[in-house]
Amino acid sequence: MHELSLAQSLLDQLLDLAREHQAKRITRVAVTIGPFSGIVRDSFEFGFNILKESMPQTKGAVLEVETPDPVYVCLDCNRVSVIPFAQSQSPSELALGGAYPKKCPWCCLNRLSPKGGTELILNQVEME
Ligand SMILES: [Zn+2]
Repeated sequence: MHELSLAQSLLDQLLDLAREHQAKRITRVAVTIGPFSGIVRDSFEFGFNILKESMPQTKGAVLEVETPDPVYVCLDCNRVSVIPFAQSQSPSELALGGAYPKKCPWCCLNRLSPKGGTELILNQVEME
């Protein structure tokens, strides 16, 4: 499972940070999951919450996940638009190159290209 190994590498990163700062415990972690990352949020949270319990430093850590709306660049007019996913589409479907928004809200042409949003970003860590 893709999400499980991502959760594990996030935890590894947190343990490194705790060691670096001589912290006993990680209390809160904030991450951003990019809309084109193909990461399923629920699976990622599920994996993290199971794996964190095996380590005294991360046990009880609160995970906050932010999932920003996808951003597109129009290849015709170069304008950038934020177009939320339709409810019927999942980020993983879109990451596979499936359904893109129909058209640019500025010039109404249909050559939109996803901009960024392919990563999992660690934003904030609180430790004590
Ligand atoms: Zn356009």
